[in-house]
Amino acid sequence: MRPEAKYLQLYNSLTKQKEVFTPLTEGFVGMYVCGPTVYNHVHLGNCRTFLSFDLVYRYLQHLGYKVRYVRNITDAGHLENDTDSGEDRIAKKARLESIEPMEVVQRYTVDFHQVMAQFNALPPSIEPTATGHIIEQIELIHQILDAGYAYITNGSVYFDVVRFNQDQTYGKLSGRKLEDMIANTRELAAQSEKKNPQDFALWKKAEPKHIMRWPSPWSDGFPGWHLECTAMSTKYLGTQFDIHGGGMDLKFPHHECEIAQAEACNKISPVQFWMHANMLTLNGKKMAKSTGNHILPGELFSGDNNLMTQAISPAVAKFFMYQAHYRSILDFSNDALVASEKGFYRLMDAVSLIDNIEPGNHSDVDVSSWRQSCYDAMNDDFNSPILIAQLFEGAKYINTLADGTIQLTQEDLGLLGSTLKSFLFDVLGLTPPEDSNQKHDHLKRAMDLLIDLRKSARDNKDFATSDAIRDRLLEAGIQLKDGKDGTSFSLKNPNS
Ligand code: AMP
Ligand code: ZN
Repeated sequence: MRPEAKYLQLYNSLTKQKEVFTPLTEGFVGMYVCGPTVYNHVHLGNCRTFLSFDLVYRYLQHLGYKVRYVRNITDAGHLENDTDSGEDRIAKKARLESIEPMEVVQRYTVDFHQVMAQFNALPPSIEPTATGHIIEQIELIHQILDAGYAYITNGSVYFDVVRFNQDQTYGKLSGRKLEDMIANTRELAAQSEKKNPQDFALWKKAEPKHIMRWPSPWSDGFPGWHLECTAMSTKYLGTQFDIHGGGMDLKFPHHECEIAQAEACNKISPVQFWMHANMLTLNGKKMAKSTGNHILPGELFSGDNNLMTQAISPAVAKFFMYQAHYRSILDFSNDALVASEKGFYRLMDAVSLIDNIEPGNHSDVDVSSWRQSCYDAMNDDFNSPILIAQLFEGAKYINTLADGTIQLTQEDLGLLGSTLKSFLFDVLGLTPPEDSNQKHDHLKRAMDLLIDLRKSARDNKDFATSDAIRDRLLEAGIQLKDGKDGTSFSLKNPNS
């Protein structure tokens, strides 16, 4: 273990404060993160949450922990509305496209893995699916029924929230009180099979047209959405584990229900640290599949979208996300991403210089204390924006070393280079650009020249030349976009 590991603090959404991180078993961490519902492409908002936990996973490993990271794939049971009603999201997509539900699952699971690989996110240690754990979910329902916290109606099984709340507390993660929830609901009990609107499905009997169904002691049906995460986290990480993560919007009801299910079975709080990542917004509103207010990673990388003036590489998009703390809201915008790209190349440029710098006979800056500031930032609840500010400070040292204004001993030079590289490449998981920054800069300058030549041709009404420039560039995979602020270009993704 690195000595810095003792000082890691993280914000626990359950206690609403930062706490020193001490795992249940020394040297080992069990972490569960709710994965995607694979009925559609993941949008950049989803990616932000998964990248936030990639950072957590990478940093814990960097500190020396052996981490078992479980992130599930939801391939059944997630209905259109989070309140046990509507069609299964995957079955609906299958119906609309006239394909099998498992074809939908396969398509979007592969897509999700490709996107995560483009972002250089590490795969989890175990990636279990809901449909692969029906037996475990049925077993869990038996346990909850035996404990007296569930009831059977018309072949469906519901969790009895009111009964549970008599013995334990429902709502402690989200800070909601059951009495208030009951007072604020207008649903007519007569229309529902539930004793109380707050109850949630553990098992639902399938209507004849519902194609995703499995046999159970209660009916041919399917498990409730919240159940899979309790079944899979308990199976792979035990009845108590260290970290459970997901997006902020999963706190209620999903995570609240997970806690209730686990406590109903085992009488102990299942998770030491609950972590919630905040939302990526677009035009000030949450990015979401359902509202259409989103941009897909592929659209960002190819430049094929109406929001950006240029294509953005996965590493730059990831860098942009890490320039905000994972618990802050982050708004997507062209200007912010273009600014991030500049910063990203500034850092990469500096890193590429370091191996050619000659050591001096003394050191003008205190590299050890700078390195300590990098760890302090990450140990303060994974504060990546502060870390990045420190990395810029490191880049500034390199630039002043390169121009001879300051010098460092061989040892300090080595420490500066290794610290910078390990935070950039191992902890943040950024990939150095395939084309060096120099190439990037040369391309930009050459394009500025072509854009100027095309403009003069147009000004002289030489449309044959201006069109030829545009068409030949397009053939070469470079698209010009004319806007009110002039002309910009984007590189077409060769795979799109
Ligand atoms: P889903 O596939 O809808 O179950 O969502 C997968 C993950 O993405 C969950 O952890 C969500 O909380 C998260 N998520 C959804 N929308 C956003 C967003 N706009 N920003 C950040 N995370 C999001
Ligand atoms: Zn979950």
